[in-house]
Order: sequence, then structure tokens, then C-alpha cells
Amino acid sequence: MPHRRTFRCDLHIHSCLSPCAHLLMTPGSIIQRALELDLDCIAITDHNSAGNAAVAMELAQRNGLILIPGMEVETQEEVHLLCYFPTLEQLLEWDIIVSQSLPPLKNDEELIGYQLLTDLNDEYRAKDERLLATAAQLSVDEVVEKVVALGGIVVPSHVDRPVNSIIGQLGFIPPELEIAVIEISKNTKPSVFFEKHPELTPYSYVVGSDSHYIEDIGRCGEPLPGFPLVGDMARLLVC
Ligand SMILES: [Zn+2]
Ligand SMILES: [Zn+2]
Repeated sequence: MPHRRTFRCDLHIHSCLSPCAHLLMTPGSIIQRALELDLDCIAITDHNSAGNAAVAMELAQRNGLILIPGMEVETQEEVHLLCYFPTLEQLLEWDIIVSQSLPPLKNDEELIGYQLLTDLNDEYRAKDERLLATAAQLSVDEVVEKVVALGGIVVPSHVDRPVNSIIGQLGFIPPELEIAVIEISKNTKPSVFFEKHPELTPYSYVVGSDSHYIEDIGRCGEPLPGFPLVGDMARLLVC
């Protein structure tokens, strides 16, 4: 059997730009923790924004860590979708589309949480004033179509969860969608999930930590994050 390298990844991490994430989840601290855990690759996937992505990419490159440009979008059906791109430029193009699709509402930081942008010294430089913890006015179909057109891939988030997942909200994955990989949350054993949803066994899966706290990074179920990168995921790493 040909040797296939296994990457230790955590592809679902929220930085301090996500209002639900801890303030200490700065890109620099996330990268430091990933290096301590000897991860090969991470993705920072903030809700509906890539505001910390450029800084995170620069810091990751300085530290020799692979960072896949990403975002977790909430669609108008309240489905969370992880969107990954080969390059930062593609993610930033996507960020503009999502930005234009957000309702014109302001974040209530006392109620919902702070949305902090950081600089290359890993210090807070600004707040994102928009309401990010909400549904963008893009359907699941539109997100998949536009992300794929930009060269990215879509991985439905935490499909085992009853809310904010494609299965919880829609009940199924429309077969015409260009989706090859799904994310199962760390709280559910993949074997148990697939027993319940045999129709989804053709999909590859990843387990992300969905970290909102430093100590949760790399906690991607048992065993710790290791999966062979196949198909679309491998394509992302080639770039
Ligand atoms: Zn989510
Ligand atoms: Zn998340």
C-alpha cells in the first residue's frame, strides 16, 4: 500500500474576532498553541468574517505552520458552513461577498461578546462593529456555488448537532451540492454518527475542535487530530 502522510490538523478554530470566543484567542496565541501541540496545519474559521485572516497567515508563515484560509459562514437557513480556500486572496474575495450579505446591524458587545481585530504584534487594534453572530443573506446553495467558483471548498460544520447544522436545519445534504467532506463535532463518535446516517457514508469527514478557548485547540476527539488528507482537502494543501 502506498505511504500516505497523515497530517495533524485542527480546521475549526475561532479567534477573538468571533464574539463567542475567548478574548485570549488571538491569532498569535492560537498559532503558539498549535505549535506546542505539534499540529501540522490549522484553520481559523471566524463567524462570517475573515478580519483576522491576513495577520494570522503572516504569523503562521513566520512560524512555519500551515494555515488554511477559512471562515465559518451562517446561511439564511441558519446552517453553519466551513469555507476553505487555497489562498488568502481568495478568502478575502469571499469575505467581501459575505460582508455585503450581512444584515446592517451592529454588534451588542455587552450581550453577545467582543469582536476583536489584532495586529502582527498580537495586540488588539480595532473592533468589528458589525453583528457577525447572525445569518448572512446567502442560501446554502449560493454559498457552495460561490465558494466553489472562487476555488474553495465547503465543509458543512458539526453535522451531528441538532441546530445550526445542515442536517439539523435541512434534514439532509442536497445531493446536487458540490460537497465531498463533512465535519463531525468532537462530541460524537463518527461511527455512531454514520450508523444513524448511513446515507452520508459516501462523504469523507473531518473532526474539528470548534475551539473557542485556547485549551480546546487540537481537541478533535479520540484519537487526536489525525486524518489522511484526501481529495479536496489535499488540493488545498498543494497551494
Ligand atoms: Zn458552528
Ligand atoms: Zn464554529
